Amino acid sequence: KELTDINVLVDEYLRLAYHGLRAKDKSFNAALETHLDESIGKIEIVPQDFGRVVLNLITNAFYAVNEKKKTQTEAYEPKVTVETKKQKDTIEISVKDNGYGIPKKVLDKIFQPFFTTKPTGQGTGLGLSLSYDIIKSHSGIIHVKTEENQGTEFIISLPTKSNR
Ligand code: ADP
Ligand code: MG
Repeated sequence: KELTDINVLVDEYLRLAYHGLRAKDKSFNAALETHLDESIGKIEIVPQDFGRVVLNLITNAFYAVNEKKKTQTEAYEPKVTVETKKQKDTIEISVKDNGYGIPKKVLDKIFQPFFTTKPTGQGTGLGLSLSYDIIKSHSGIIHVKTEENQGTEFIISLPTKSNR
């Protein structure tokens, strides 16, 4: 583990994911909003592992808004919001989208390895199961709030003082 500035990491991976997707799909666009809490300071994490978690969540969010856009007849503004927040003994990282949301019948399966609703070649179904393991190894938790056709928010909570 290394002392890492979570805000810098989040910012880097957000750019990486956005430009990576745009390079593959010229029609992709989404409004990005970030609220990064400057008071967080550095915390002890494995930056490469944690980067993968952030990248997974952001990639899923972009996919969800992009797919929703394809089916939307009314005006629709795809938007992804990433927020970091310092709480008393934890820090929170939230990745929120206004995409297609997660249907109730699939919600209890999303953290299972190889579970995906994406077409062959577009998803491995490993992103969230891997993320779950990485967050657990940092003594953190991840939870999800979602509403079908409204959007989804994943929230990671990590202890600042380590019992790790
Ligand atoms: P993959 O992205 O390869 O499908 P993940 O483990 O990252 O695998 O996600 C598993 C499934 O969870 C996705 O296929 C999708 O059905 C659902 N999911 C994850 N994130 C979102 C999101 N932001 N909006 C809607 N569905 C999501
Ligand atoms: Mg994924």
